Amino acid sequence: MKIILAETAGFCMGVRRAVDTTLALVEKGEENIFTFGPLIHNPQVLKILQGQGVNILQKIPAKIDGTVIIRAHGIPPSQKKELAETGAQIIDATCPRVLKVQAIIKKFLCRNCFTIIIGDRNHAEVNGLLGYAGKQGAVVSNEHDIKHLKLPDQYIIVSQTTQDKNIFNRLSAEIMARFPNGQVFNTICDSTHKRQDEVRELCGKVDAVIVVGGKNSANTARLGDVARSMSCPVYVVETEAELNPKELRGYKTIGVTAGASSPTWMIERVINTLRENGNNKC
Ligand code: SF4
Repeated sequence: MKIILAETAGFCMGVRRAVDTTLALVEKGEENIFTFGPLIHNPQVLKILQGQGVNILQKIPAKIDGTVIIRAHGIPPSQKKELAETGAQIIDATCPRVLKVQAIIKKFLCRNCFTIIIGDRNHAEVNGLLGYAGKQGAVVSNEHDIKHLKLPDQYIIVSQTTQDKNIFNRLSAEIMARFPNGQVFNTICDSTHKRQDEVRELCGKVDAVIVVGGKNSANTARLGDVARSMSCPVYVVETEAELNPKELRGYKTIGVTAGASSPTWMIERVINTLRENGNNKC
C-alpha cells in the first residue's frame, strides 16, 4: 500500500497562532488561563491544554481573575464587551482572516447594508460574524434557506472562511439571481481553498482518502464531503484507533489529509498505523 500525505494537512495559520498564543502563556507560568469556548475543534489537543491548566469557559461569569483567550473563530462584539467587563485580561487570538470578514460586515453595516453569511448556522465563526451584522444579517446554509429569503435592496454576501467554494459559488449565484443588487465577497480563506483543491487532486491519484480531524470540526467534515463528491471512498477519523486496517488493506494507494485543527502528531500516528498494517511505501 502506498500512502500519499497532502501537503496542506494539519494546522492552518489561524489555529497554529491560537495554540501558540496559549502555549506561550502556559510557558510564562501564567495562572488562571481560560479559553472562551474550545480553542480549536480537536478533543485530543484540548485535553493536553487542559492538562497544562488551560480551562474552557462556557459562560461568561460576572468576574474573572485571570486571562481569557478568544479563539481563532472569533466571537460576537457583544460577548467581547461582556468579557472585558469581567476584569479579565483578554487576549484576542481571532484569526486575521476571520477579523477581515468581521471588518467587511462592520463597514457595510455602516452603509445600512444587510449581510448574508453562507455557512453553517451553528458554527462558532458564523455566530461571531452574525453578531457583527446585528439585526441586519442572516445565515444561508442551503437552497431551502434561499426560498424563504427576503432581502432589502442593498446587501452583501460573505462566506464562512471554511466554506466549500463550489457550494459558495452555487448558493451566492442563486441569491444574486433572485436579488440582483447584492455584492459578493468570497471570504473563504486561502488555506481552505488549497486544502479542498488538494483533496480533489488527491482523489484522482488514490483509491481512498483518510481525513484526520475532530468529530466536531466543520472543515474536517467538509474535506470528507469534497472527497465524496469526487466519488472517492473516504474515511474520516479522529484518531488512529478508528482505522480499520483489514478494510484499508484492500486499497493500493491511500491519500491522507487532515482538518485545520489536527495536530501533526495525530496525523503521524494515523500514518504509522497504516504503515504497520499494510507493508507501505510513503
Ligand atoms: S481556516 Fe483560515 S480563517 Fe479559519 S482559522 Fe484557519 S487560517 Fe484562519
